[in-house]
Amino acid sequence: MTERMLKFVATPQALPDKRPAAERRRDFDEIYADFARDKAAEQASRCSQCGVPFCQIHCPLHNNIPDWLKLTAEGRLEEAYELSSATNNFPEICGRICPQDRLCEGNCVIEKGFESVTIGSVERYITDTAWDEGWVKPIAPRRERPESVGIVGAGPAGLAAAEQLRRKGYQVTVYDRYDRVGGLLIYGIPNFKLEKEIVQRREALLRQSKVTFVLNCEVGRDVSLAELRARHGALLIATGVYKARDIAAPGVGLPGIVAALDFLTTSNRQGLGDEVPDFDSGALDAKGKHVVVLGGGDTAMDCVRTAVRQGAKSVKCLYRRDRANMPGSQREVKHAEEEGVEFVWLTAPQSFLGKEAVSHVRSVRIHLGMPDATGRQTPQEIPNSHVNVEADLVLKALGFDPEDLPAAFDAADLAVTGWGTLKIDWRSMATSLDGVFAAGDIVRGASLVVWAVRDGRDAAERIHGYLSAKARPAAAAA
Ligand code: FAD
Ligand code: SF4
Ligand code: SF4
Repeated sequence: MTERMLKFVATPQALPDKRPAAERRRDFDEIYADFARDKAAEQASRCSQCGVPFCQIHCPLHNNIPDWLKLTAEGRLEEAYELSSATNNFPEICGRICPQDRLCEGNCVIEKGFESVTIGSVERYITDTAWDEGWVKPIAPRRERPESVGIVGAGPAGLAAAEQLRRKGYQVTVYDRYDRVGGLLIYGIPNFKLEKEIVQRREALLRQSKVTFVLNCEVGRDVSLAELRARHGALLIATGVYKARDIAAPGVGLPGIVAALDFLTTSNRQGLGDEVPDFDSGALDAKGKHVVVLGGGDTAMDCVRTAVRQGAKSVKCLYRRDRANMPGSQREVKHAEEEGVEFVWLTAPQSFLGKEAVSHVRSVRIHLGMPDATGRQTPQEIPNSHVNVEADLVLKALGFDPEDLPAAFDAADLAVTGWGTLKIDWRSMATSLDGVFAAGDIVRGASLVVWAVRDGRDAAERIHGYLSAKARPAAAAA
């Protein structure tokens, strides 16, 4: 064990500097500054180099965290980058937006008493440095293979698979209905969590690596699944989940009540310099409005913090459970509170009031009752506890379901689960259709970027196995 490590007793935990909330409220720039080189090394040196690293076990990519922390502490950053990029296609993205408190850092053994190693910030620092130093290079496969793979969806699952397949020399084409590459990385997640240049430089790298992108192309409308199956040796479906869950409450159709992703996509497009009529008309602009966000997940957190930055008069988040029971990252809640968001815990909407447009959310107070079968306490309404919350923009962040893909793709044989996600054999990542694989949110339901990357990598490996097996009889006969 090197003497450089095990510094967690003497060296307190430190994250990169966070910009003051008053400044953050005024722009969409990232909230954390970069680590300086000595700070990153110092923080990496807090790791105790566990024999059984729980951080690694709880990282969906099983990143070799202790080893790259040690290399960082020793100033061997290029080697640290080689190691960290061997298991993760987008370490600088995961380092920024993984909910580390629930994954690697939340399971760091020094968490108890000394506060975890700041794994995500070090991971981000290693790869940002690699980009600055020119260590991140386009893929040049050792040999080109003739077989082509089509990927439907240019989100993190599709992009991770595309990169892995290109490494093996396959000819890869990615189709997406959006006009930009990145899926929710570009149009869902706001700039203050993940600056768009970070995603766009990955796109440029994939293009330089000879991945072909066909954008503005909706499979099921502009091209059929059957056509793509005939065009490619194998297909990967990585289309994510986009059907916004709704609330069946009186008045829900009033103008001013909108789906969270419409609001966030509009804001992201506006930030990217697009002309966005819904923003320009004010319909999806929070400026000067009383904004109420319904929900307690990551999407809700992104909505409240976007509304603050757009200049809302007030921003409230209504959630039917309490702080301890919300699904969103606690770190995000803290950022939102610092930025002036008011959380109205244990409160559920019942109806929406207003004449021409929404003016109030009529809500009821909630008491958390006995735990249900899943162990979560059941929300129970408290009689006669109604409150009217002022609102001229209500954002519904109630979760997402998959679209009906067998119908959209005109592929009745494409098997789905009871939740509508694609049914796959987890060992082969194969769907019910021969040569068609699936990965990411369309398989898991709304999940995380790091899981999408993991699935994309796994799917690429299985597609390689499938195409290799298909090529073998032909080679043997020749
Ligand atoms: P997506 O990223 O959704 O990409 C799917 C792509 O498929 C899209 O580009 C779409 O246009 C395309 N597509 C769909 N249908 C078709 C079709 N018929 N033809 C062609 N193309 C099609 N995760 C985190 O880890 N950290 C976070 O902080 C975080 N914040 C989030 C904030 C918001 C607002 C949201 C909505 C999600 C957030 N997530 C976060 C979750 C994360 O973004 C997703 O889990 C992840 O993007 C899923 O990746 P994917 O590749 O499966 O799908
Ligand atoms: Fe932690 Fe995510 Fe990085 Fe894994 S990918 S080490 S979970 S930040
Ligand atoms: Fe280091 Fe914490 Fe991982 Fe142990 S659990 S190897 S201390 S980062």
